[in-house]
Amino acid sequence: MALKPCKVCGTLNSSEEEICLSCGYPTKGRKRPAIFQIAAIILVLAFSVPLIITLINLIQTQQEPQIPSSTQSLAKSSKLG
Ligand SMILES: [Zn+2]
Repeated sequence: MALKPCKVCGTLNSSEEEICLSCGYPTKGRKRPAIFQIAAIILVLAFSVPLIITLINLIQTQQEPQIPSSTQSLAKSSKLG
């Protein structure tokens, strides 16, 4: 029977215990936190991807007026010249 310190609170729990007796954090069950980590990553992606897309759209909309104006100025200068 081995004692393992809890990752969260440091309480020594027996290796037979699945969760920490002090704080309830799963000591063995790495499968359960992995699911939560994957869910957290999916949530972060679900929120970050639309943000990145909107940022790219904003940057493109900000850059769009500059390109026609430069081409128009070039066209006008060519017509005038
Ligand atoms: Zn604990």
